[in-house]
Amino acid sequence: MDSDRGARTALIVGAGVAGLAAAIALAREGWRVEIAEIGPPDATSGWGLCLTGPSLRALDALGLADACLAEGYGMSTITHVDVHGEPASMIRLPHLIGARRPAMAGIARPALHRILYAEAERWDVAVRHGVTAAAVDQDGELVRVRLSDGTVRTVALLVGADGIRSSTRGLLRLASSRAFHGQMVWRALVPRPRWATGIHQFAGKTGTAGLVPVSDKQAYVFLTENGVGRDVLPDSELAPRLRHLLEPFPGRAAEILPLISAPAAVVRRPVLTDFVDGAWNRGGAVVIGDAAHAPAPQMASGAALAIEDGLVLARELARHDSVDVDAGLQAFVRRRRQRCRTLVETSVTIVALERARRHHETYPLVDSCHRLMAEPV
Ligand SMILES: Cc1cc2nc3c(=O)[nH]c(=O)nc-3n(C[C@H](O)[C@H](O)[C@H](O)COP(=O)(O)OP(=O)(O)OC[C@H]3O[C@@H](n4cnc5c(N)ncnc54)[C@H](O)[C@@H]3O)c2cc1C
Repeated sequence: MDSDRGARTALIVGAGVAGLAAAIALAREGWRVEIAEIGPPDATSGWGLCLTGPSLRALDALGLADACLAEGYGMSTITHVDVHGEPASMIRLPHLIGARRPAMAGIARPALHRILYAEAERWDVAVRHGVTAAAVDQDGELVRVRLSDGTVRTVALLVGADGIRSSTRGLLRLASSRAFHGQMVWRALVPRPRWATGIHQFAGKTGTAGLVPVSDKQAYVFLTENGVGRDVLPDSELAPRLRHLLEPFPGRAAEILPLISAPAAVVRRPVLTDFVDGAWNRGGAVVIGDAAHAPAPQMASGAALAIEDGLVLARELARHDSVDVDAGLQAFVRRRRQRCRTLVETSVTIVALERARRHHETYPLVDSCHRLMAEPV
């Protein structure tokens, strides 16, 4: 793309969910797209992801929901188990992509990435690994980007989709407010118990834990650990520590304990949130996904927002004939800002209530977010 200048050329920094979804959506609108991804191919973390109704709806708009349902595990219920191990309620989730298809899906992250990569390839998106944006300048109406390998791109659109620690955000001098909330979240891949045909959430005395199927054979355990620092545990301690944290949980949670064994399948991450309060764009450059707005993982909505961003970005640019990129980007930010802000802020409130062990007060907030997210984008 070095020789390309001009309209309908886009460079995306980051090949995560946001970057790949945006690449596919833009390519479908006739953009020529290249992605600069700092990591190697197949570097995705091994744990699973819950694709909520809004994620499936956005994937469906890209023609990818059925592939995700085929690779993942479709489901429509969340069973809440109380502190005594008894099922307290079963919530049936709204079916946003039609009554015949499940309300949501669990999927292994590598499977989702394979689907997105294959679709991007089908639309001739070029993905270059091991490179990043090193410098960005405005060149008239175009954006001039020097990559870390010394090559230069002059494009109409630069998209920073490089996650919560975005360096594109820094290059564009966009300020964000990243915060750590004194919690760590755990994820572990385990064989799927036969009874796990929907999400199970277990209320414990000090936190929450649960199980999400990601395929016929596998599920992931989740657990939130309260009141901790950001210390890093050696890999060998992860599985025993997670088993120890799960021990006080009642009922079927006990059946999950012996399934947690391989250290490589256990991850522990800090609960971080972030939001770009001011502008998300400068001229023809914009940030999307976690680089612009990262809710706490408890909401299981970050990927939904990221995929929606890609879709809305392509739609707004198309509405502005792809020639007035700045106007298209401003319209994009206007459409996205409030929805994303509400999600991030509500997730911060939920985290604070969890830390205060006022779990029952989080349920109406979670419900209100699900209702907000179910509204059309
Ligand atoms: C433990 C945990 C569990 C979660 N569970 C869920 C869930 O169940 N459902 C859900 O919807 N959301 C969930 N989320 C949130 C979700 O993972 C994120 O919101 C989503 O991945 C954001 O996508 P993204 O593409 O913006 O960022 P990322 O997924 O972080 O992707 C960023 C990409 O950019 C690349 N990159 C980084 N820096 C650079 C650079 N300088 N140059 C080039 N490339 C770069 C990275 O290698 C990566 O490929 C969870 C988050 C966590 C931490």
